[in-house]
Amino acid sequence: MALPKIVVLGAGLGGTIAAYEIADAVKGRAEVMVVSNSEDYWFVPSNPWVAVRMREPEALRVELRPVMERKKIGFTSVGAKRVHPAENRIELNDGTDVSYDWLVIATGPHLAFDEIEGFGPDANTVSICETHHAHKAADLFDRIVADPKPVVVGAAQGASCFGPAYEFAMLLDTELKKRKVRDRVPITFVTPEPYIGHLGLDGVGDTKALLESEMRDRHIKWVTNSRVKSVEPGTMHIEEVGEDGAVKKEHSLDFGLAMLMPPFRGVPAIHGIEGLVNPRGFVLIDKHQRNPAFPNVFGLGVCVAIPPTGPTPVPVGVPKTGFMIESMVTAIAHNLSDLLDGKEPSWEASWNAICLADFGDGGVAFVAQPQIPPRNTNWSSSGKWVHLAKIAFEKYFLMKVRRGESEPFYEKLALQVMGVNKLRDR
Ligand code: FAD
Repeated sequence: MALPKIVVLGAGLGGTIAAYEIADAVKGRAEVMVVSNSEDYWFVPSNPWVAVRMREPEALRVELRPVMERKKIGFTSVGAKRVHPAENRIELNDGTDVSYDWLVIATGPHLAFDEIEGFGPDANTVSICETHHAHKAADLFDRIVADPKPVVVGAAQGASCFGPAYEFAMLLDTELKKRKVRDRVPITFVTPEPYIGHLGLDGVGDTKALLESEMRDRHIKWVTNSRVKSVEPGTMHIEEVGEDGAVKKEHSLDFGLAMLMPPFRGVPAIHGIEGLVNPRGFVLIDKHQRNPAFPNVFGLGVCVAIPPTGPTPVPVGVPKTGFMIESMVTAIAHNLSDLLDGKEPSWEASWNAICLADFGDGGVAFVAQPQIPPRNTNWSSSGKWVHLAKIAFEKYFLMKVRRGESEPFYEKLALQVMGVNKLRDR
């Protein structure tokens, strides 16, 4: 008799570890298949390093097919054109179909650059969201080094991922200093956050003071509560709003290089599917990661719908980071295993956040448990060790993905980070 089929859609950070962990959890009881749109996995958290030539893209790549074959996980890189949840079927880009008994959607973000005129890597700003974008941004970084000009870094209105913006601003500062041109490159940080270090989480521990202090120390000016109106070649037009949302000031910022994190929405393969996604295309899920309208569909990672922490004058979203994504993966793997045993799903993700923001010479780390305040753990710290911890984590994570091993990577890291802190405090 044919085994039931579990399909994981998307092979980024969440989808790849989900495929491994689900395959281990349901071994012999279900067939597992991955529908990707690429032969490779790319370690996105290291993209900021690619953009300042601290990494070559190749170092972040894992060829997935051989790993999936070893683990007896079906694999295609054709990509999904459209999910048809009422028919338990995915239509692929080559016109063929893949049917499933259970579907796990892990398609990450669709980058909404088109929501602002002149924004994005096909227009007037660079991006670090994808490794190939970051590689292209490195060419502009070289040009800034050769012919110094102002830099604008930050996030656009509606963005939900702020850590990489802070990382990139500080990395630029570090790398431009090494090349002895920082004195000729003014850096401005623009963000919809109501204050520096809000991070879409209303801050974690002392991130406000830590990040403000880093920015002051590095002579990075900032504009909070900002909204980008448009970007033309070499100039960004932004509005700074007050607490009441009314425009307080308008700025036109000249730049030689500009990188702002974009707002996200759901990918086209799922956008607009009634009952499956919200109006922005994010997958609706219950506390067991299951879609209420199509209970054989689960969602995890950046593609799921999460409400903001609270109102802000300019909209900011809640980040979905590795630790949280990993806990969603574990909950889904256990829930699928229970379903195969005829039980109802009962596992819930813990939705905590851990972040190591590397600045090239140091960094800021935080742990938020749970992610939304008030919290049981609300911890942040800074120092050279964050830079070293991030390098070690990258190596460890990539090694595990190459080996096809599922393990709570981030949970281990959180324990390590907090352990380090305890040692330091002694
Ligand atoms: P992704 O990793 O984006 O994976 C989604 C995958 O689905 C992609 O491979 C995509 O190509 C694929 N896909 C999309 N549509 C289709 C389709 N139709 N068919 C098939 N496949 C499809 N978090 C941290 O915890 N720590 C960090 O240091 C950190 N740094 C970050 C740095 C950057 C620059 C960014 C952008 C994010 C960072 N994050 C970090 C946040 C988060 O952990 C990452 O965004 C993570 O990659 C999200 O995982 P995901 O699986 O949800 O999405």
